Amino acid sequence: MWVRRPDARGILETPGVKKALPRYVDIVRKNKRAKYLIAKAVQAEYRRRDTTDELWVKHDALLSTFKEHVKTQDSSRKKPKQVTNSFLDLKVLLAHRLMQDCAFCERRCGVDRLRGEKGYCGAGRNFSLFSAFPHMGEEPELVPSGTIFTGGCSIRCIHCQNWDISQWRSSGTSVTPEMMALQVKDLAGKGCRNINMVGGDPTPMTWQWIETMNKVDINIATIWNSNSYYSEETRKLLAGFIDLYLLDFKYGNNECASEISDAPGYWEAATRNHLMAHEYGELLIRVLVLPGHNECCTRPILQWIHDNLGPDTRVNLMFQYRPEWRAGERPELKRELTSEEVAEARHIADEIGLRNLVR
Ligand code: SF4
Repeated sequence: MWVRRPDARGILETPGVKKALPRYVDIVRKNKRAKYLIAKAVQAEYRRRDTTDELWVKHDALLSTFKEHVKTQDSSRKKPKQVTNSFLDLKVLLAHRLMQDCAFCERRCGVDRLRGEKGYCGAGRNFSLFSAFPHMGEEPELVPSGTIFTGGCSIRCIHCQNWDISQWRSSGTSVTPEMMALQVKDLAGKGCRNINMVGGDPTPMTWQWIETMNKVDINIATIWNSNSYYSEETRKLLAGFIDLYLLDFKYGNNECASEISDAPGYWEAATRNHLMAHEYGELLIRVLVLPGHNECCTRPILQWIHDNLGPDTRVNLMFQYRPEWRAGERPELKRELTSEEVAEARHIADEIGLRNLVR
């Protein structure tokens, strides 16, 4: 497996990765425990008949002390005690409630997905699996990455490379969280460094994902590989569940986001969610450079990252744009990047002072 990506071997020892993703590296090395395991060991006092508002109050109180639990766990070699109702159980219950009035993403469709209703993303009640395999094409610090693709997406990028999954060209395989937990264990057994939840986008499957990991007890890092368009509620559910946020930062303004990805309010959602990811986990940001969008998108995104998350934030500036799906609807997206645009994007990153780019 490693022969195909020799750059993945020593990458965890490099200063850039150690600085930006220290806890992730420790989980891969089995020196620290994944956040979801810590959340499983935190006692939560609630009743199933509590109102959703009451549950959120209890959730948020536990979240406010979660970092202390992480610190305690990190300094102890002891296996945590079993609890009757855990913080992770509470997250499962809240996510289940959200399924009835869906607001996992910014679109807030309000459909009852437990009854099989479908909103914009096309996801209903089922956990729809498209593929699960050790991915060797991700960033070197992630591979082999136990990548699991599920169906549906909360936005609609006209150049989507995974449009067959995001737009349900097929329905995938309907699995239970128990079956998905076996997939997770299988990928861990194959030597994967992490479980990489992706789609489409993983956001519509937030409940199913938390439920799945509640049935797993192996120490493996969790990765949320998302377009960043998830709601306030989802960002709170992810805090204390996700170790490494692998977030796309797609647009530097709402006009481009609306026109290209039908994602109104993208800038506010993305900035808010990157800040929370930075606070509760570790962050690797993907910035796909689009043809003709260096000044309106690449520059403001990189500037915001530098100013709000710091110059050592791990950023993958990506140049592999290809016109896929409906990209021909916009003149500038009909072509690949020019070498001048690639050089210009690199120059912008240097000029702004970002110094931890994935090479
Ligand atoms: S996850 Fe899907 S159904 Fe739920 S709010 Fe978003 S687009 Fe609508």
